[in-house]
Amino acid sequence: MINFLNLYKINECYRKEIDNKIKNILDSGWYLLGKECENFENNYAKYIGTKHCIGCANGLDALRLIINGYGFKEGDEIIVPSNTYIASILAISQNGCTPVLVEPDIKTYNINPELIEEKITPKTKAIMVVHLYGQAVQMEKVWELAKKYNLKIIEDSAQAHGAGLNINGIFKKTGNLSDASGFSFYPGKNLGCLGDGGCITTNDDELAQKLRALRNYGSEKKYHNLYKGFNSRLDEIQAGILDIKLKHLDEDNEKRRKIAKFYRENIKNKNIILPETYDEKSHVWHIFGIRTERRSELQEYLSKNGIQTLIHYPIPPHKQPAYREWNDLSYPVSEKIHNEILSIPISPVLTVDEAEKVTEVLNEWH
Ligand SMILES: *Cc1c(COP(=O)(O)O)cnc(C)c1O
Repeated sequence: MINFLNLYKINECYRKEIDNKIKNILDSGWYLLGKECENFENNYAKYIGTKHCIGCANGLDALRLIINGYGFKEGDEIIVPSNTYIASILAISQNGCTPVLVEPDIKTYNINPELIEEKITPKTKAIMVVHLYGQAVQMEKVWELAKKYNLKIIEDSAQAHGAGLNINGIFKKTGNLSDASGFSFYPGKNLGCLGDGGCITTNDDELAQKLRALRNYGSEKKYHNLYKGFNSRLDEIQAGILDIKLKHLDEDNEKRRKIAKFYRENIKNKNIILPETYDEKSHVWHIFGIRTERRSELQEYLSKNGIQTLIHYPIPPHKQPAYREWNDLSYPVSEKIHNEILSIPISPVLTVDEAEKVTEVLNEWH
């Protein structure tokens, strides 16, 4: 059986270092907001290229905290892609703001920048871009619109640790392409911990200071509450583990790129559409999504041949019971993607033999 993702195998690579780290933290007697968190925040900010990194409890909270930190509230509109994972949209709703859905580009699966401007109203406060499946959004048009209409840009980088764009010859990473970015360290992400974790990266000093308070009950000083804050902290054990794995992130992403390149060069089947990318560095292949009109048939065929696949995602947000008010709306590009996309195995621990087997089985499908 070729697993979609073998998390045990991924973390087993760092077993000794992780065991040691956990032991040291246990011995230290300090488990929250201590030197492991601070150290990881410094190293992650350096890695992304931002002035600040603020650890928090998960990726959803990272986005919720940003929106709350900017003071967006009831009636404010935030633009977001219609095919994103539900968390991006929940972060907006949970702050009382209105998510305004914009269709993706069928080639990149990222928000279609050409469709944003027509959705901007006097109530629009921000554009949330999502670097979906690990591919950085082409930001030029988004930057231009944010400037023209005085909007904030928020990145949802939960699937894109280490991806980036070449801007005038300088490589800028996702998480450093906007006013503030949310990351998730959910175990299955490109940089994942052994539980829940997340962070915010930003160059905005004022926001960073506020977020440090907001994640900890709104207090800068214990029992003095400046804001109606959250409890959303990155614990010492997760921060310590993330710091170990961060050192290998680029290497791990390169392994994913190698597999993606192999798939793109060798999967040849007229019934299957392969994902496209602009350039190597813009994509870290969190997901390798192929498309076919006969998805359930293909998924069953792969499963019979010992290949596990997943669907990211089977139901678009506007068709979810949670967003009943949108159920009658139509977003045809999103719906097409949700009906056709299928994620095949890709990870730093997928072997060449396994990638060859997946390719061979796919090429024999008709
Ligand atoms: C995983 C994910 C999130 C949420 O992260 P959690 O840590 O699970 O809360 C948000 N947005 C996207 C695009 C994600 O893939």
